[in-house]
Amino acid sequence: RPGTAVAPQEAATHCPYCALQCGMTLRHVEGRVEVHPRQFPTNRGGLCQKGWTAAELLDHPDRLTTPLLRDRTTGELRPASWDDALTRITDGIRDIQARHGRDAVAVFGGGGLTNEKAYALGKFARVALGTRNIDYNGRFCMSSAAAAGMRAFGIDRGLPFPLADLGRADTLLLVGANPAETMPPLMRYLTEQRDAGGELIVVDPRATATARAATRHLQPLPGTDLAVANALLHVALTEGWVDHDYVAARTTGFDAVRRVVAGYWPALVERLTGVPVADLEATARALGTGGRVVILTARGAEQHAKGVDTVTGYVNLALALGLPGRPGSGYGCLTGQGNGQGGREHGQKADQLPGYRRIDDPAAREHVAAVWGVPADDLPGPGVSAYELLDSLGTPDGPRALLVLGSNPVVSAPRAARVEARLRSLDLLVVSDLVLSETAAIADVVLPTAQWAEEDGTMTNLEGRVLRRRALREPPPGVRTDLAVLTELAGRLGSPGRFSADPRTVFDELRRASAGGPADYTGVTWERIDDRDGVFWPCPSVAGPDTPRLFVDRFPTPDGRARFHPVEHRPAAEEVSPDYPLYLTTGRVLAQYQSGAQTRRITPLRTAAPGVFVELHPDLAERLGVADGDELRVTSRRGELLAPARLTPTIRPDTVFAPFHWAGTGRANSLTNDALDPTSRMPEFKVCAVRVEKVG
Ligand code: SF4
Repeated sequence: RPGTAVAPQEAATHCPYCALQCGMTLRHVEGRVEVHPRQFPTNRGGLCQKGWTAAELLDHPDRLTTPLLRDRTTGELRPASWDDALTRITDGIRDIQARHGRDAVAVFGGGGLTNEKAYALGKFARVALGTRNIDYNGRFCMSSAAAAGMRAFGIDRGLPFPLADLGRADTLLLVGANPAETMPPLMRYLTEQRDAGGELIVVDPRATATARAATRHLQPLPGTDLAVANALLHVALTEGWVDHDYVAARTTGFDAVRRVVAGYWPALVERLTGVPVADLEATARALGTGGRVVILTARGAEQHAKGVDTVTGYVNLALALGLPGRPGSGYGCLTGQGNGQGGREHGQKADQLPGYRRIDDPAAREHVAAVWGVPADDLPGPGVSAYELLDSLGTPDGPRALLVLGSNPVVSAPRAARVEARLRSLDLLVVSDLVLSETAAIADVVLPTAQWAEEDGTMTNLEGRVLRRRALREPPPGVRTDLAVLTELAGRLGSPGRFSADPRTVFDELRRASAGGPADYTGVTWERIDDRDGVFWPCPSVAGPDTPRLFVDRFPTPDGRARFHPVEHRPAAEEVSPDYPLYLTTGRVLAQYQSGAQTRRITPLRTAAPGVFVELHPDLAERLGVADGDELRVTSRRGELLAPARLTPTIRPDTVFAPFHWAGTGRANSLTNDALDPTSRMPEFKVCAVRVEKVG
């Protein structure tokens, strides 16, 4: 099978799940594949339970090993040959594009796809399909931090410094991040920092496991993190902790920010957020007088209809304190999905071409079109964001067909029941996956594709470090790699560009396409990755160095300066009301990953986290007459969720929490709000108004 390289007994690779990309060694032992932790700078020999159990899915009984086609008579999915499945797809695409135009076929990718797949998928959409309609689930993950980073620093790399800096920080501020459950091996850096006498401060509406490990916990009302940021900067200004030399030498726009934050008096912000003045002042002091200071945001700050402005509030704070580019200090974002960073650099975003270039930039179009061997004028323009794309499916002006790779939007999209209805209304839904996910289950064609241990490729972790994912074995009979499928489809569609199923060939083309762009991979070769623990982009030449640390001398903006942007707090898109009197916030649990399509099938993970639940404070439970374990109905303006109550004093009495890994009546995203950030188009997953009732 093209595209696979097989190591006979063991492979040094990385975990298939989150952006920490923990190092692991896979070994064949007595007919099984065993996972062994491997020393790597991110995990230092540690793995969480998801990593330990990752191999269970390789030979899982639910594994798809043959394509499935929906029978037009019975409506059931039936096993089919690859030729029949690919013919159904190409016939459908030709027919739909002939009747409705090229944009009538859309593509939806994922932040877990390797760099090679993300690149090939973007090229497939623009060249083989000629459609502008492509976006991916990373829009639901990192897009707010990405947009804030681009407008402040001129570049978007999750951590602009190596992860090891965290362990050496004197003060660490984590906003809306819960690595104790999402990335447990990262906690060692945080506890080392704390145990060495550092301040570890967590901002989160819940007293999560991470918050409980902190030296200080700020527990704001969901959707008010931006007001907290402005209050911290207000105090820093009042107390004289702003680094005015840095601000003058390395930034522009501070005066406008100074004027805005002047109104964020701590007493006022306490009333707005619930965070006591004393905590705001102590936090500002730890940030303003600490030596090495790091500020990190994650989904809790970012998944809002004001996510870009919220992140910008913390970026403003970091710039005012002179942190970015200072050794051991800075601002960063903890990326979520396995290739959340690389997945947004190589062209599967609606507005981007490879190398993190804008698709509406004429020079970028010329460069990438030359690499692809097509005229630049033939490349489509920008499409719409992930939710807008999903919400347009099957509508009179929307796409009639969708190809999904590495995503399960029936569970993971906001307002999921509506998205599911849109998907069901399509003329052709094609899903490539390992198992019959909830989205695959409603598809017309399901393609069984290879897993992480069965194909080579590269990933880019949360530090911007490019890694090698190495194959241990070939895919099972009947299973193909995504690259092989895209190459075959492109050929059958008579695509003008050349496609390859070989990941190394694709990566070398990706390097050429990225040359000169913000995310320049020119100097990243597989050999260089093998010689050390990965290569940090930008790396513009094979002979030159890579860039573990950004912003040391200048920012990649036209004048080399970072940009402040004044940002104001505004209410959540949906506030509580008499009918919906409580806030809902959503998130993850340790033993499950994203939509759960993989981890819900792994026995130890299912045992550890068997189903959805609703966290609520005992005071709220008493008011509602609810006992621990009672079945609850949680209702928002968009749908409802049925789940048992889990009473805990770790949550605010005005807020409930539900994890989003489950489907059916336990689908938390049936409730979430599809209000979008005006810049990043991030949906407001983290706050909406709900009503909670005991069932029966
Ligand atoms: Fe895998 Fe992330 Fe767990 Fe590491 S922390 S083992 S990368 S899921």
